[in-house]
Amino acid sequence: MYYEIEIISIVVLSLLGLIVGSFSNVCIYRIPRNESIIYPASHCPKCCSNILPKDNIPILSYILLKGRCRNCKSKISIQYPVVEFLSGFIYLIVYLIYGLSIQTLIYIILSSALIIIAFIDLNEQIIPDVISLPGIVIGFILSFFVPYISFVNSALGVVVGGGIILIIGLGGSMIYKKEAMGGGDVKLAAMIGAFLGWRYIIISLFLGFFLGALIGIILIVTKIKKREDVIPFGPFIILGSFITLLWGKQIISWYLRF
Ligand SMILES: [Zn+2]
Repeated sequence: MYYEIEIISIVVLSLLGLIVGSFSNVCIYRIPRNESIIYPASHCPKCCSNILPKDNIPILSYILLKGRCRNCKSKISIQYPVVEFLSGFIYLIVYLIYGLSIQTLIYIILSSALIIIAFIDLNEQIIPDVISLPGIVIGFILSFFVPYISFVNSALGVVVGGGIILIIGLGGSMIYKKEAMGGGDVKLAAMIGAFLGWRYIIISLFLGFFLGALIGIILIVTKIKKREDVIPFGPFIILGSFITLLWGKQIISWYLRF
């Protein structure tokens, strides 16, 4: 009986992740353009023809259509199936770690918000306030009702997360005489801090800086990016926070061994 529930949960959570991933693609495209995320129905950005329900199946439709619009044959960005896969994958892992719990529910909603922010930042170099600001408030309010984070920890997470980025950003702009980190990053770090607390946001940011520096160097060495190119930092904060959200316990106990 237990295994059946486990298998059903795995299937349901993964499918839910894929479907929410498909909707996240709509948000990634429309939020920076200030378009409604509900109306009109999904359509091809090139020829504007409506996307049929049978062509809107996460990942599968992209493969069946060979990455092209059914109507005008223009290329569909690989970002669509990537976002769907990432979303399904993270939902599955969150479930496998946190089980059927309120923590899983909140973490999958947070994950979707973070996936949307990461791809908007990659595409447009902005972090939309319409997600991060309500996110700070929602994360803090939830902390009063959930067993795994106290409201003190949540509040500290907001201050520590936002504060670290603010200080580094101010320091960076004094040294380099240009904006190193934007206000969007401050609000993003504060939002993640509200959900994960002060310890996890510190680990998230540390991982984010480390991965950002590493990947930045790789991109410059391989000449994919130039030194003066802007590499958005938001996606790295988010990558760091995904690692922490999933394996923070292990990271802390590993660190405490030293
Ligand atoms: Zn088309």
